[in-house]
Order: sequence, then structure tokens, then C-alpha cells
Amino acid sequence: MLIPASEKQADMAEGTTNPFESLQSQIDEAATHLEIGDDLIERLKHPERVLETNLTVERDDGELERFTAFRSQFNADRGPYKGGIRYHPQVSRDEVKALSGWMTYKTAIVDIPLGGGKGGIIIDPDEYSDDELERVTRTFATELRPLIGEDRDIPAPDVNTGQREMNWIKDTYESLENTTEPGVITGKNLASGGSEGRVEATGRSTVIAAREAFDYLGKDLEGATVAVQGYGNAGWIAAKLIDEMGATVVAASDSSGGIYNPDGFDPVAAKDHKNETGSILGYEESVEELTNEDVLTMDVDLLIPAALENAIDADLAENVSADVISEAANGPLTPAADEVLEDEDVFIIPDILANAGGVTVSYFEWVQNRQRFYWSESKVNDELEEHIVDAFDALVGTLEEHGLDNPRTAAYVVAIQRVADAFEEAGTFP
Ligand code: NAD
Repeated sequence: MLIPASEKQADMAEGTTNPFESLQSQIDEAATHLEIGDDLIERLKHPERVLETNLTVERDDGELERFTAFRSQFNADRGPYKGGIRYHPQVSRDEVKALSGWMTYKTAIVDIPLGGGKGGIIIDPDEYSDDELERVTRTFATELRPLIGEDRDIPAPDVNTGQREMNWIKDTYESLENTTEPGVITGKNLASGGSEGRVEATGRSTVIAAREAFDYLGKDLEGATVAVQGYGNAGWIAAKLIDEMGATVVAASDSSGGIYNPDGFDPVAAKDHKNETGSILGYEESVEELTNEDVLTMDVDLLIPAALENAIDADLAENVSADVISEAANGPLTPAADEVLEDEDVFIIPDILANAGGVTVSYFEWVQNRQRFYWSESKVNDELEEHIVDAFDALVGTLEEHGLDNPRTAAYVVAIQRVADAFEEAGTFP
């Protein structure tokens, strides 16, 4: 018997900001500073195609369950579609479309020869066994097979997926295609063709961008206070690296709540505690338990939102006290929150630059896979540093050239122009 997908939510919950509308308004805002026709802007606001598929998967008890999954291929003007696959109950068609658009402009701002894509399955992975998750992943990989390939579309990890899922997708694809093609997916573990430095890359770009912003603003990173919302791959690595740069991490949160110590705490020991207990709460160096909101509104020099989109809306933005925000998460601020913070002179390093380390090292992984020649970790980190610093310089150059107040708009101006240039060079077919 096929049991229906449990009431997993497929559409945006009422009252929440639709991330696809956020993406489109960010593009519209940037377009006012660009000399690009409305017809081309219209193209650049929509995905080229979206796959919606229903996966039928056998549970461990023999029953069948249906899962809805998506893959959005937003734009390939600069290279193959590129973007992660997310497993979350709140995945929706519009969320995946938005994330694929952000990928397009992210690969453009860091100037790597890739386009933008994104995928997701509506699933709470905590409710399924490892064997069930493997069957879900391999079923999705089978559906994706005609669409993906190292010159077509290259998936990667995102929320609740990691090396394990990437290895399953690679193995399924290679088995069905009867080939060896490690570059069909990135974020693999080293034994399966992954890259040194990939796991740390998102957190690393988040803090490189923050360091550049502090430098640009004439602020000292040494001793600066930092709050981190979300203590997963992106958040905890950012906390560890910013601590190594001399800043003081005073607050952090995960989905269970937040911890605080005004003198700072050891981000690695806090992560060890989370690994052991499943939550950041109860970490011994914390002197006070905080809510997620407390962490986001804390009076710190640097705030790193590293959980999900829409973490800060206009109401919450009124209370945000950080001087600089480096967006490790995708879309953590609603456009209305952006406006509030722009008025308050908060320097926001947009997600498409701050968290672009993940896709940049994914690009390096893809290059290494195709060359069958692997780099050292220091080479990966050096190349990453160069791409992020160049992207930050391009952002600042555009900010000043156009007299803009909002770094996000400047980033989109750079990125949209690059995608538009590639489209115009190629011409229209047919
Ligand atoms: P992850 O699943 O490893 O971690 C997510 C963290 O957020 C977890 O600690 C979770 O407890 C926490 N969280 C969830 N809801 C929360 C809430 N309401 N308040 C506080 N914490 C909450 O995911 P990740 O890979 O670290 O991704 C986080 C964000 O970074 C996402 O927006 C993702 O798209 C973005 N990102 C990740 C990468 C990457 O390489 N991992 C690359 C680019 C962007």
C-alpha cells in the first residue's frame, strides 16, 4: 500500500516571507543601478526549469511512502547549474527556486564558471533510519540522472545533507551511467574524490569576508565580540575560525536555544558538547541561557546568522545591535529587515558573497575531479582566500562607484552584470 506523504508542508506557511519574492525584489533593486533592459532582467528573475517529482520509497517495515522533491535549474549562462540538495520539512518549490537564484549570483560574484541550481526533498531526516535515507537519496538520484552530469548540473550538500548523501548520489549516477564521473557531485568525502578544505569552506569565507569588512570600516577584529546563530557546519566553523583570528565568540545558538559568556568561550569545546548531547544548551562555559532572538539582537561587533532563511524580519531588525553582519546562511534577512538595517548603518556582507566559500571549494573539487589531480589543503585555502578577497573588492568598488548604501545591492549589481554579459555574448537561441 502507498501511504500518502504525511502532512509535510509543500507551500510556504502563511505569513512567512516568500524567499523567491525576496530574491526577485533584490534583483529589482539592483536593476535600478544597471543598464540592462527589462526583458533580460525578467529572464534573470526566473529559473529556466524546475523538476518536481514524487519519490516512492520503501520503509523498513515494508510500507511505501511518497516524498515530494524538487530540482530548480535557474541559470547556466556562465557554466553548468550548481547548487546543493536540502532535506527539510519546510522545503518548498519557491524556496528551492529562490536558493537556485541565489546560487546563480553567488557563482557570479566569486567569478567561477558555473551557473545556479538547487534541490530539496520535503523530509525530516530525523524520522528515518539510515537505510531509509539511503533509499530516499538513491531514488532521488535516479530521478535526477537525466538532468545532472559534470557538464550539466552538479549538486552538492546543503541543510541536513553531507558527504554520505553525496557519495550515495555519485554511486547511483555512476552505476546507472556505467561510468566513473566523480565531478557529477561535490562535497564528497576524500576517499570518493572530495577536496581538502571543503568542509570548512563556508565558515572560512564567512570570516574572510568579515575580516575584509572590518578592515574596510577601520574596525579592529582583535577582541571584537561575535554572536553566531546556528551551530551546524557553517556556523560552528565560522565561530572556530573567527576565534582563531582573535575575535571573541560570546554567544551562539542552535535550534534548541542559545548560550552566552561575556568573556567568550571555546567554540570547539562547545561543538564537542553539542556532538555529545545533541544540543548546544548546557555547555559548561555558558553563564546564561538565551533565546534564539536574544542571540540575534545581542550588542556585538559581528553577527553571523548561520541557520535558515528569514531569521531576521523587520520587527526583529529594529532590535539588532550588531555593527557588521556576515551572512553564513542563505537569505537570513527579509528584504524589509534589510531596509531597517540599511537605515541603521549596519554593514551587511550578503550571503552570496559571505557563504560563497562552499561553492568556491566545490568548484575546486570539480576542477580536481576533472583533472584527476588533487591539491593540498593550503593550496585550496589560498585559492579560496583570493576569490573571496577579489569578490569583496569588486563589491566595495561598485558600492563606491554607484554611491550605494547597501552592500547587498552592490553585490547583485556586480553579479547580475556578469550573468547578463555572458548571456549577451552568447546571443539568443533559436
Ligand atoms: P546544518 O544543518 O549543518 O546546521 C544548521 C544549524 O542551524 C543547526 O545547528 C541547527 O540546530 C540550527 N538551527 C536551525 N533552526 C534554528 C533556529 N531557529 N535558531 C537557531 N539555530 C537554528 O546546516 P549548514 O550546512 O550549516 O547550513 C546553514 C545555512 O548555511 C543554510 O542557510 C545553508 O543554506 C547555508 N549554507 C551552507 C553551506 C555549506 O557548505 N554547508 C554553504 C552555503 C550556505
